[in-house]
Amino acid sequence: MSQQIDRIVIIGDGLAGTNAAQSLRERGFAGSIVLLGAEEHLPYERPPLSKAVLLGEAEPDSARLHPRDWYAEQGIDLRTGVRAEVIDRAAKEVLLHGGERLAYDRLLLAPGAQPRRLPHLEVPGADVCRLRTIDDSAALKDRLAGRLLIIGGGWIGLEVAAAARRAGGRVTLAVRGALPLAGVLGDEVAQVFADLHREHDVDLRTGTTVEEVRHVEDRTRARLSDGEDLEVDTILVGIGAAPDVEPAAAAGLAGPDGIAVDAALRTADPDICAAGDAALHEHPQLGRIRVDHWDAAIEQGRHAAGTLLGGQEPYARLPYFFTDQYDLGMEYVGHVGAKGFDRVHLVGDVPGRLFRAYWVRGESVVAGMHVNDWDAIDEVRRLVGGSVAGLPAR
Ligand SMILES: Cc1cc2nc3c(=O)[nH]c(=O)nc-3n(C[C@H](O)[C@H](O)[C@H](O)COP(=O)(O)OP(=O)(O)OC[C@H]3O[C@@H](n4cnc5c(N)ncnc54)[C@H](O)[C@@H]3O)c2cc1C
Repeated sequence: MSQQIDRIVIIGDGLAGTNAAQSLRERGFAGSIVLLGAEEHLPYERPPLSKAVLLGEAEPDSARLHPRDWYAEQGIDLRTGVRAEVIDRAAKEVLLHGGERLAYDRLLLAPGAQPRRLPHLEVPGADVCRLRTIDDSAALKDRLAGRLLIIGGGWIGLEVAAAARRAGGRVTLAVRGALPLAGVLGDEVAQVFADLHREHDVDLRTGTTVEEVRHVEDRTRARLSDGEDLEVDTILVGIGAAPDVEPAAAAGLAGPDGIAVDAALRTADPDICAAGDAALHEHPQLGRIRVDHWDAAIEQGRHAAGTLLGGQEPYARLPYFFTDQYDLGMEYVGHVGAKGFDRVHLVGDVPGRLFRAYWVRGESVVAGMHVNDWDAIDEVRRLVGGSVAGLPAR
């Protein structure tokens, strides 16, 4: 790695990229920082886009990370509406859309993720959308009160279902598996979410896919695998997000699963780090993982700033996630991963939705969560990563 660092370029101005820029200044880096964002908006966070902003309870501007002046005050050259197209590692330059070449001494890749699509359902005239950006959220907000078909029972699908019900919309939620989130949460906890949505009159169709969408005479119909032919106004595809690996892949730093980084968030090129949703990280305890959560984007961004400046410490923080749906709030710590779990240890009142859940593999607690038990997060953090012997009685 070269010693002199005059300029650090950051591709992606989301939570990871912007927190990295802030942390570079907090660590005393006095050189040039260029923060590139493909969207026209000032950097913002995404969780409110499926919650308060989607419901119109908070202004879109409230999701902004900093006011416009802050970037100039920090000496951060924020360039919005600018896409980095090529990384020339040999020349240590980033080629921007429009042809400008930007030299770097260190480069951070924080391009985030893109929602997966179902192209065969995107027929002309039909309103088939996804939710990732502030513009997506504004467009969906105006349709929440209509007849909404949500494909996918992941976190985004469930949060939008809750928002749409609060807005008075009619919601059909088509979930491929036997229960939403069963792979992550296990049947017992997944059932809590299924019951919650059914109690709020979401038409939850489990074991159901959408086979075909037709748009004829101004009407959209969706044919479900259970045989129903449903007339809808809007279809939201919420089937997860894939890491945005271009232009890192073309530079030999990424595959389809993400931009591979070591424990300290450094890529195979010692002058280039990655953080946030796009980073496929070698976690010291959990092995290779890619985490698309708010907390990881912030903390990896900050940590990557240290690595860019020559730090070697591993990023060892456990993944953390939260969601709010109706009157259910939860916080989740840990990672079940591809190896899964053997059993779920439940403590508290599950039907009353005031409980903690611990996912156990062998003798280890691999993840933990509380539902509406806000004082319990410290206990959850303490127990995850430890032995089952430490778990409280049911
Ligand atoms: C609707 C929604 C709700 C969510 N709710 C929660 C929640 O409740 N809890 C939780 O933990 N997490 C939640 N998340 C996940 C969380 O928002 C993400 O993990 C986080 O935004 C990731 O930050 P990031 O900086 O890695 O990527 P992003 O936020 O995606 O930012 C990356 C930015 O880089 C830009 N970019 C990409 N490529 C280029 C390029 N070549 N040149 C220039 N710019 C580029 C993109 O346009 C984008 O603006 C939610 C996500 C969404 C979409």
